[in-house]
Amino acid sequence: FRDVSFTYDGAETPALSHVSFTVEPGQTVALVGPSGGGKTTAASLIPRFWDVSSGAVLVGGVDVRDMDPHALMDQIAFVFQNSRLFKTSILENVRAARPEATREQVLAALMAAQCGDILEKLPKGMDTVIGTEGTYLSGGEQQRVSIARALVKRPRILILDDALSAVDAKTEQDIWQSLRGVFAGGTSGIVVAHRVSALQNCDEILVLERGRIVEHGTHEQLMALGGVYHSLYSMYGAFDG
Ligand code: ADP
Repeated sequence: FRDVSFTYDGAETPALSHVSFTVEPGQTVALVGPSGGGKTTAASLIPRFWDVSSGAVLVGGVDVRDMDPHALMDQIAFVFQNSRLFKTSILENVRAARPEATREQVLAALMAAQCGDILEKLPKGMDTVIGTEGTYLSGGEQQRVSIARALVKRPRILILDDALSAVDAKTEQDIWQSLRGVFAGGTSGIVVAHRVSALQNCDEILVLERGRIVEHGTHEQLMALGGVYHSLYSMYGAFDG
């Protein structure tokens, strides 16, 4: 992000103001801060749900607006809080991110996303069409399949925006273990974090407040600073007040 500002159509104040940061290959950056601070907006600019008002978002040094949209999307996987599945089989849902993926690769992604119990309870395993009678998945189950869809792509950039909010704490930790392997393989991570547990897995934390990066550093550094991060953490033990 190079001096990125962004104002939604019709809004009076910018959602992001002069935001600059870099995520290296293999590095994971967490975005935290009060609700409305601009975290989701920042994440949304990478796959170009919106384009910057000024400044630039660059991937591999190239302005995303100058990239072929397919080339950009090939490098990015994202799971947003309300990521939904299609009314087709689990296999095809996961494969949507990478049509040439084999069954084995889809299964490996599903297992990495802790979906083994889901496959077990469905009558035809990963060939079960979901969203039909008797095969509805809970919010947390849908999030896990969405994670599998992101993992099968083996993206250069993985964006997780509240992507594990409906998953229980133990499963979340198990999924993070898989994610750590993905990031160790050179994927860059952008994680909008609402829970403390996610931050243990991030190299750097950026605190966004009213569209600006007001603090950045590790958990320990930010706690020692005694600022916004410290007060959010002390008050809620979480970051989305
Ligand atoms: P966060 O993810 O930190 O909670 P957001 O990025 O969702 O913050 O929101 C940043 C600001 O932009 C807020 O003031 C919010 O009301 C506004 N905003 C978010 N989405 C939209 C939208 N689609 N249209 C207009 N304003 C929006």
